[in-house]
Amino acid sequence: MKSTEHLLAASLLGTSLVLGGCGGMDTEPKEATIVQNDPGMEASMVKLRNYWIGRGVAQAADVKLVTISAGTMDCVNLQYITTTLRASETNGAYCAPATIVVGKKAVETITANAIHGGYSVEDAELTLAAHEFGHDIQYNTVSGYGEQQIVEQNADCMAGQAIRDINPDAYPAVDKVYYTFGSDPEHGSPEERLAAFKNGFDGGKQAFCGANILPPEPSASN
Ligand SMILES: [Zn+2]
Repeated sequence: MKSTEHLLAASLLGTSLVLGGCGGMDTEPKEATIVQNDPGMEASMVKLRNYWIGRGVAQAADVKLVTISAGTMDCVNLQYITTTLRASETNGAYCAPATIVVGKKAVETITANAIHGGYSVEDAELTLAAHEFGHDIQYNTVSGYGEQQIVEQNADCMAGQAIRDINPDAYPAVDKVYYTFGSDPEHGSPEERLAAFKNGFDGGKQAFCGANILPPEPSASN
């Protein structure tokens, strides 16, 4: 609950960022209202930066979170394609380089779902942040990408690797998030997303998430 209160209060401090670019057919203005990030999401970002730095991805230190409450933001994704994130949609996006953008509505929805469903808000937020962070790892470690759903499920697998080390007790929340939020043709069904996540979670650093991402770390020999 605390997260939501902070977020609502933060919206009063919002500043505007006017973005250029082509007009297109969007009915929403090409202007995003940036608000203060939710503290729970920020806490997740700190944990994820530390996790990936620990795995040798130095650039993870630079990944920042931006929360928008209104309008749209053009975003160059990791495949160098410009997409538009709408604050009115309940999703997040990775914008190259090194920025995770989330709609305030997405954070509110994920928070409300967790409260209503009786699972941890913090763990639900970590699930969202860990997926988007996975895209930054892809951006920093890969040249060339494949089919969108494979890229998305690689990110879910990396989220599984990270969450297993950060907080393995988050698993029940992860399960709920995948079944209530964020499934679409690009990301796959809840079952497919959870299977990809579980591949990373069960395998930890040894998981093979796909051809396009960091290789597994060598096993400790003893
Ligand atoms: Zn994604």
